[in-house]
Amino acid sequence: MSHAMGKVIFQDGLKLYFEYNGTCDIVMNHLYKTKEEVNNNWRNHSSLKCTCKKDEPVEIETNYGGGIYWSGKACKKCKAFTKGFTPYEYQERFEPIWGFIK
Ligand SMILES: [Zn+2]
Repeated sequence: MSHAMGKVIFQDGLKLYFEYNGTCDIVMNHLYKTKEEVNNNWRNHSSLKCTCKKDEPVEIETNYGGGIYWSGKACKKCKAFTKGFTPYEYQERFEPIWGFIK
């Protein structure tokens, strides 16, 4: 299995879900409110873009390879990542920001 479920957590605690492509180490840039919606669109996501520029810092987590955590930015309204598309992009800021992820 090279794809995995992923989750972003916003500062206010809101969680959104996405599909992580472990083969390419990259997120599928489409955030959903539920895991079911991610599953329903598995390997068939339209790629979204933030156009409102109201992206916020997020923690990002996937269960790929036993669990990977990193930080980035995403937009709740546009349901899109704007930074942190790969775990390696933000490696220098690896520590969880909000402490929700253990
Ligand atoms: Zn946006």
